[in-house]
Amino acid sequence: MTDARRATPRTDKVLSDPRLQSATSRLGRARVKAEVVDTLQQCRDGAIHADDVVDSTLSALPSAPTSLRRVVNATGVIVHTNLGRAPLSAAAVEAMSLAAGATDVELDLQTGRRGQRGRGSLAALAAAVPEAQAVHVVNNGAAALLLVAAGLAQGRTIVIARGELVEIGDGFRIPDLLQSAGARLREVGTTNRVHRRDYEQAIDDDTALVLKVHPSNFVVTGFTSTVPVPELATLPVPVVVDIGSGLLRPHPRLPDEPNADRALREGAALVTASGDKLLGGPQAGLLLGRSDLVERLRRHPIARALRVSKMTLGALEATLAGPLAPVPASLAASVDDLRVRAQRIRTEVADVVDVRVVDSHAAVGGGGAPGVTLPSVALALPPSYAQDLRAGERPVVGHVERGELLLDLIAVDPLEDSVIVQAVRAVTGDRRG
Ligand SMILES: *Cc1c(COP(=O)(O)O)cnc(C)c1O
Repeated sequence: MTDARRATPRTDKVLSDPRLQSATSRLGRARVKAEVVDTLQQCRDGAIHADDVVDSTLSALPSAPTSLRRVVNATGVIVHTNLGRAPLSAAAVEAMSLAAGATDVELDLQTGRRGQRGRGSLAALAAAVPEAQAVHVVNNGAAALLLVAAGLAQGRTIVIARGELVEIGDGFRIPDLLQSAGARLREVGTTNRVHRRDYEQAIDDDTALVLKVHPSNFVVTGFTSTVPVPELATLPVPVVVDIGSGLLRPHPRLPDEPNADRALREGAALVTASGDKLLGGPQAGLLLGRSDLVERLRRHPIARALRVSKMTLGALEATLAGPLAPVPASLAASVDDLRVRAQRIRTEVADVVDVRVVDSHAAVGGGGAPGVTLPSVALALPPSYAQDLRAGERPVVGHVERGELLLDLIAVDPLEDSVIVQAVRAVTGDRRG
């Protein structure tokens, strides 16, 4: 036996070291044990000293119980699909964590009997959109459309404009989704133009509904025309409006973005929307409108497969009834405030790297307000920082434009400014070795 082999401690002895206790409660004993076994082998091989086994195990273990990493969104895209869309407010996070345990989500504590699932969240949604007679929440915007197609148009026809046959992302297309639920599509109009008479002529006994889809990720300009909701509402079938991004009421900075309140006022029978775009809440699909239709959908067998979690219900309620969520806060950001923040960050890293504070153009992103740019402020760094900042302890994601890395502050929580400072300093420190 070599000295190294003889000095190697036993696995259970290492595992019982108090320094590994918090890792065990965070990651589970099996995960920690696997790492200990690995480290002990290195010890036997003489690669590390017996006294360093615990420290070495600790440094090899992940710091979080999930492989998902928390990143700073400095892309200048407020709702960034690849970064998980809307970041939740602290209140919504608290609600989620509270809901994670045993809760009264489906229990009436007064009577001890079964209660309506998520009644508090549904009440908050109903209060936020008084124009809706009834509301329902499903897994996401696509699920809301699926439920509409399955529940109201299975084996029947949905009339939809050709210019609204939208591909939402990652290769998924709304027309395919509707057909997968057993609805037939009757396309009307051309790519650029559709008129009320096109809808009128297409409607027959087989027509279940007219669907109006907000082209939320592209803009068609030039010789175009669409039929507004008030005109569609005079047709003899229900009009369902997929507003997409989930503004419940008008937003002063996004005058062209549809909102639920207005669509319902204008006569939509139902409105569908996402919860994690401009509303700034958890991933969810909102269904708002006529109570007979909402009730039919709520009782449809597929509704059970699209049901949201108790955590989602909690986060949605906190988003609707609680403090301003990060997405609407970003939408309301003032350029002056952003510039003050940018200058402060610049001052704190000026000794290690050349940084400029520049005006930038931010986007709403994530299927909302296509073509809209919001004035913003960014820090401009050498482009080589892009990769190093993504690879850091707390990744910072910006974008490279005209040979510079821009870290746009519009979607960065002010509490994360210090994270940017630390990340930039860490990159520079690493480079200087
Ligand atoms: C985003 C979007 C959807 C899909 O919603 P998800 O929440 O991503 O499932 C559907 N329709 C429109 C118009 C959208 O913008």
